[in-house]
Amino acid sequence: MNTNINTDVISAKKFQRLLLIWFAQHGRKNLPWQQNKTPYHVWLSEIMLQQTQVATVVPYFQRFIQIFPTLTSLAQASEDEVLHLWAGLGYYRRAHHLHCAAKKIVHDFENKFPDNLIDLQKLPGVGLSTAAAILSLAFNIPATILDGNVKRVLTRLHGITLPLNQKNSENLLWEIAKFYTPKKNAAQYSQAMMDLGATVCTRHQPQCLQCPLQNVCVAKKNNLVHVLPIKKQTQTLQLKHRTFLLLQHIDNILLYKRSAQGIWQGLWSLPELTGKPNLIAIKKFMQKKFGVKTCKMKLLSSFKHSFTHFHLQLHPVLITSEKIIGNLMEDDAQIWYNVHQPKHIGLPKPIKTILERLP
Ligand code: SF4
Repeated sequence: MNTNINTDVISAKKFQRLLLIWFAQHGRKNLPWQQNKTPYHVWLSEIMLQQTQVATVVPYFQRFIQIFPTLTSLAQASEDEVLHLWAGLGYYRRAHHLHCAAKKIVHDFENKFPDNLIDLQKLPGVGLSTAAAILSLAFNIPATILDGNVKRVLTRLHGITLPLNQKNSENLLWEIAKFYTPKKNAAQYSQAMMDLGATVCTRHQPQCLQCPLQNVCVAKKNNLVHVLPIKKQTQTLQLKHRTFLLLQHIDNILLYKRSAQGIWQGLWSLPELTGKPNLIAIKKFMQKKFGVKTCKMKLLSSFKHSFTHFHLQLHPVLITSEKIIGNLMEDDAQIWYNVHQPKHIGLPKPIKTILERLP
């Protein structure tokens, strides 16, 4: 037993009992991935739920399993099909990982979903907590989870005042989470922990009077509920400006496929220049890239989109020129996208917004 843990807060047995009684009455049991539960559905939902709320995930999950009902169908899909279904859910690296992991299971694990922590963590996009969630929820095998919701519950329950995003608090929380993890009822317990964090011990308006742990919770006793968890001070996010060019030919707009690096990896986007619209820079770009000396330009409404690490102000500029079509080299990395008969391709949400705003 790790001596850092204050085991006086509540015994593991009592904690498990209170939590499971609460879960029987109030836990979520009708989520789409809980019906006809399979490892494939559980894994898919866990990846989608990383950084994303349940309400947002539900329609994406339903569409996804309709198009890709099996792991094999996902493994056989093209990258574009997967990214198209993911478009709008954000954090696109998850979609790439999902697709790669499906192929890995089919090829390296003979189409059998891994059922142990070591093999699960060999799948792209699956860390220790996600592997534990899949193992416990899909296979009912005991494993300790520690996602954001669980961290918040345990931090408040134990009144931990260390900033959350530090190695020592992370280690301490893993120890506490392991201390409470039961040897039985693995699936119910993991779901209960997630549900308590997501529906009762919420970030902004925790419902302590509905909480099964209210009589032992250190944060509640010490009036620290709204103070915890403490996060290490992070820098204010930088605002970056970028100009997006809509090269128009009749109803078509030129799109190109982004590389596997940076934001919107592998998605289709618009040619872009750094900074706010600069007409001289745009003219130079048009001449260098497409050999176009004259073109009409129209500034469209700009708007902001936020990423975890920066804010992006998007400045769309509509460009029309008779010469564009003649000078454009068609290849796999660029397409003419018909805005009135859109293709099923992976578009980042802000780019989709720009295209949808076109008259
Ligand atoms: Fe969270 Fe309040 Fe429950 Fe403590 S009593 S675990 S703060 S909901």
